[in-house]
Amino acid sequence: MADQRPDQERIVAIGAHRAKPGAAGRVSIVGAGPGDPELLTLRALRRIEAADVIVHDRLVDPAVLDHARGDVRRIYVGKTRGCHALSQDRINDLLVELAREGCAVVRLKGGDPFVFGRGGEELAFLESNGIQTEIVPGVTAALGCAASAGIPVTHRDLAQAVTFVTGHAKSGSEPDLDWTALAHTNHTLVVYMGVATAAKIAARLAEAGMDRAMPVAIVENGTRENERVVVGSLGELGTLIGSHQIAGPAVLIIGRVAALARRDDLSQLAAQAAGRAA
Ligand code: SAH
Repeated sequence: MADQRPDQERIVAIGAHRAKPGAAGRVSIVGAGPGDPELLTLRALRRIEAADVIVHDRLVDPAVLDHARGDVRRIYVGKTRGCHALSQDRINDLLVELAREGCAVVRLKGGDPFVFGRGGEELAFLESNGIQTEIVPGVTAALGCAASAGIPVTHRDLAQAVTFVTGHAKSGSEPDLDWTALAHTNHTLVVYMGVATAAKIAARLAEAGMDRAMPVAIVENGTRENERVVVGSLGELGTLIGSHQIAGPAVLIIGRVAALARRDDLSQLAAQAAGRAA
């Protein structure tokens, strides 16, 4: 639900940094990795430790922020579907403002900052305002989730290409993608932000010629302690989302390699069955 209060009031900030007049501020746009705080890069860790201010998103694990100095100022600017703590324009202005105060700013984003992360827009805005910037890459959700679920995205017997797409529709109810190109058999498709549109995506791929028996894996909260991996077929993708109540961040991995996933759903069912039998 859209929040009607002005953006200014919705900045959730902890701590207060001291402006450093005369100091050259800079913004590091840093990828925090897919979830598990151990998957931070060393450079990301160093930038977080040295930061005066951290401007972070929703999908960043609190344990990552714990690496920061005790006096760091944390500003939460997260977005969920239809509810943005701060508009993108306000985030851009805020980053420029903080850098001009002389701060070492870390703009911390889930995964990699340039994969569906609007890092490119922030970088362009900062550079056009003459701010010193750097990019620190991170492990993107597709790769973190696939590895964690035991899915080799380009297993050479099964897939010669992998494509990352967004399932989020900018306008309308489904993404505007070249379904025929995506429906190739020897190809792995990883869908970000696709939980809400999963059934439609499955239908479009099937219409474009993909076999409804094509394996799919849903990786929810990938690399986190509460990771779940649900495996099935393209034809049942929409149903699986509902029956497994997928609610956390999830990627959909579609393609022959998905059959190689660790079957957490089955082991959970087996554990539940064993519990009932005991
Ligand atoms: N820049 C990020 C992606 C941001 S878009 C990156 O490179 O990973 C947000 C989407 O990423 C979520 O809707 C979900 O599809 C995916 N995602 C992020 N973290 C995830 C996780 N731990 N498990 C599964 N999917 C995740």
